Amino acid sequence: MELVDVVVVGLGVGGEEVAGRLAEAGLSVVGVERNLVGGECPYWGCVPSKMMIRAANTLAEAHRVHEFAGSARVSPDWAPVAERIRAEATDTWDDRVAVERFVNQGGRFIRGSGRLDGPGRVRVNDQVFQARHGIVLSTGTRPSAPPVDGLTDTPYWTNHQAIEVERLPESLLVLGGGAIGLELTQVFARFGVRVTVIETLDRVLATEEPESSEVVAAALRADGVDIHTRVLADRVDHDGERFTLRANEARYTADRLLVVTGRRAHLDELGLDTIGVRADQRFLPVDDRLRVTEGVWAVGDVTGAGAFTHVATYQAGIVVADLLDRVRRSDAEAASDRAGAASDGTGAAPDDTVPRADYRALPRVTFTDPEVGGVGLTESQARQRGINVQVGTVPLGSSARGWIHRADGLIKLVADADRGVLVGGTSVGPAGGEVLSGLAVAVHAAVPLAELRDMIYAYPTFYRAISDALRDLS
Ligand SMILES: Cc1cc2nc3c(=O)[nH]c(=O)nc-3n(C[C@H](O)[C@H](O)[C@H](O)COP(=O)(O)OP(=O)(O)OC[C@H]3O[C@@H](n4cnc5c(N)ncnc54)[C@H](O)[C@@H]3O)c2cc1C
Repeated sequence: MELVDVVVVGLGVGGEEVAGRLAEAGLSVVGVERNLVGGECPYWGCVPSKMMIRAANTLAEAHRVHEFAGSARVSPDWAPVAERIRAEATDTWDDRVAVERFVNQGGRFIRGSGRLDGPGRVRVNDQVFQARHGIVLSTGTRPSAPPVDGLTDTPYWTNHQAIEVERLPESLLVLGGGAIGLELTQVFARFGVRVTVIETLDRVLATEEPESSEVVAAALRADGVDIHTRVLADRVDHDGERFTLRANEARYTADRLLVVTGRRAHLDELGLDTIGVRADQRFLPVDDRLRVTEGVWAVGDVTGAGAFTHVATYQAGIVVADLLDRVRRSDAEAASDRAGAASDGTGAAPDDTVPRADYRALPRVTFTDPEVGGVGLTESQARQRGINVQVGTVPLGSSARGWIHRADGLIKLVADADRGVLVGGTSVGPAGGEVLSGLAVAVHAAVPLAELRDMIYAYPTFYRAISDALRDLS
């Protein structure tokens, strides 16, 4: 058994950030990763998918030349997209650069699966590490498939195969109409794939405002996508060439099937029982400083606070501050012991400036075209919480910029009338994710509505529609 300061299990965006920063701070840090350092985001998630979206959106813009500027011929080719993902995003799914970065920060990297082995201990391969100051679990999630007969016997795609694809199929069934499914749907449709989306709920993008779902569904249909909601799949078969999905009387067939119905944390693999934490939970429960239990922290998707890279890195900052505070207090206590001073055993006072996680203004962006940005509560979430809700909604076309662009979209504001502040906001449009920033500040800082109304909004911007939505609040 080897004594180190900190062991970080799982080096996705969350774990990589914690491990790197603690190593830079001078701690002896062991970082354990069984697959690629960086995790889903750079190799099979955010980065390559946004490269695909960038490419698909250039095609869509080119198709609009006839509306504004004459004519253009467009010949989509997937090869440059696949090449960019291979060469620029993933280095052919090789993490050498990321491993080197961590080692240069002073960390010690071990490839393997980490598992708790009692309080303060992590076992990886044949080694056991005793962590003097803490263990950080940042093991993320993996795609989960719904319990549909026959599905697991078929060669269906997850996001991994969809991102790694070099030759596009002619047709694709997408099971799941959430953010990831819709982003990929639009990309493939714009490259000429016949895409059918199957969603169990009554609308796609069901976690966002219903108005957002409508705009995105219309945009996808305009791209040729076939969308079926309220469909509960009964059975999936693959005959060696094509997939068939059955739901009641309906049958849907395609060359490929992409399953994007959610993701699951695999807590049963982590040895949680050895530290007295239940493994039969959906996510790892944490407090507002991301502590699971004494000396154990968790960050990222595994906490269930929001499956976003910006949640993982936000949480990582809190864990680093909390862990370094713990180190400082333990060092202070050791110093006072050495000096023979009377110690009450609690060490130096905890640092109250260590931030606490606060997700009231958690931003979410679905990078379809138009983009859907959302922050804080939706209207229905606010009503469920008993808030005295006021809503203001305007189409993006009400702003000069939206009209000039012929852009689809909207701004929707959700206010707490009693407090006179926004508790949620949605911006759908060509730059919905960017326009969201103003709404995120307003929700995060609880900027009074009167202040928001008094601001000057630049003309003609997309975000100027926020001032119209403020006037619409009622
Ligand atoms: C297609 C797609 C698009 C996305 N787009 C966006 C986006 O645009 N914006 C955004 O904010 N988010 C996006 N996300 C979500 C984002 O990728 C995740 O929120 C983020 O990767 C979470 O980071 P993490 O560190 O918690 O987990 P992961 O990135 O999942 O990393 C966890 C790591 O732990 C490792 N691991 C697991 N168990 C063990 C073990 N026992 N021992 C050792 N290693 C282990 C895994 O191999 C993995 O590398 C997207 C996701 C997908 C799938």
